[in-house]
Amino acid sequence: MRTPYIEIDLNKIAHNASRIKEMWGEVGIEVMGIDKVNLGEAHIAQTLVDAGISLLGDSRIEDIIRMKKAGVDATFCLIRTPFLSDVKRVVRYVDISLNTEFVVIKALNKEAIKQKKKHQVILMVEMGDRREGILPEHLHDNVEKILRLPNIELIGIGANFACFGGIKPNQEKMNHLSLLADMIEQQFSIKLSIISGGNSANFIWLQENGRPGRVNNVRLGESIFLGVETLYRHKIEGLYQDAFKIVAEVIEAKRKPSLPNGEMALNAFGEIPHFEDRGIIPRVILGLGREDVAIDGLTPQIDVDILGGSSDHMILDAKQSGLKVGDTVTFSPNYSALLSAMTSPFIHKKFKSQVLELL
Ligand SMILES: *Cc1c(COP(=O)(O)O)cnc(C)c1O
Repeated sequence: MRTPYIEIDLNKIAHNASRIKEMWGEVGIEVMGIDKVNLGEAHIAQTLVDAGISLLGDSRIEDIIRMKKAGVDATFCLIRTPFLSDVKRVVRYVDISLNTEFVVIKALNKEAIKQKKKHQVILMVEMGDRREGILPEHLHDNVEKILRLPNIELIGIGANFACFGGIKPNQEKMNHLSLLADMIEQQFSIKLSIISGGNSANFIWLQENGRPGRVNNVRLGESIFLGVETLYRHKIEGLYQDAFKIVAEVIEAKRKPSLPNGEMALNAFGEIPHFEDRGIIPRVILGLGREDVAIDGLTPQIDVDILGGSSDHMILDAKQSGLKVGDTVTFSPNYSALLSAMTSPFIHKKFKSQVLELL
């Protein structure tokens, strides 16, 4: 196998997906699987569908098109507000979109009329995290205008937390979202079928016996793929944290001084580097750099220290590992390292699905 590569364990992803679906299902909440971190990789998307998650969300329309073309049979939701310049593709390829701008919804309606289709819309409400969303006090006016558009179906409302402002999705926020859903339904005599309460940051609320009220949907990515909630990156019990592994190869292994030698200036990234004097150490260079993956998000699975990296190299203190040229080192990625690995043209993908050892 050429290196560097990412090993993707589809069985572990399947396990996480079905366990998560069960956990939320117990309180009547459906899971939308968010696949954006994987660039709409079809094997992974199909794994979610096979695990019973048939509503898939992605922020990129290109990913949705890729999944559809690969034959993934799911309902697809575009989770980033559609671009006004891209409504044609949105109507053509996407079943549901999350929206916050009436001009865009109006353009979607016009395009849907042209394509003789209905387009489903979930309105995002801004509830404190200060990223996307309509302020609650403007919801009524927006809904009123949307309901006049013949080819738009308003199917729900949603909110996003802990993404920009770091605001927790707690019981108070969920109650508020439920209340807004009730109000819209009463004021306009309609039924909203999706009340989407958040993302992988909502696990702690669930684990603290959150009362869903009207919330019946969550949009989950990181928790399915990395087995953690995202408020504190705590492990979720019963899930695998190692469905993805990044493997790199040793291209140089020598004993060298731990300190640079010469007159110090800026390094390749415009920083003045600082080094600890560890004497002569076994220094290992891996063929993996910042051009391949966000190396700051990698944790080695053996006892070595990452000293730093440049575009093409990662430098390790190999300690007692005995690493030599041609050996490989395995890392577990955090979400940003995973994102960068899955979108990198330099990281090969290796799929693994074998009989699982029991947790
Ligand atoms: C990325 C994203 C999610 C999923 O977030 P995770 O932390 O990966 O669960 C949910 N909703 C929206 C709008 C997103 O952009």
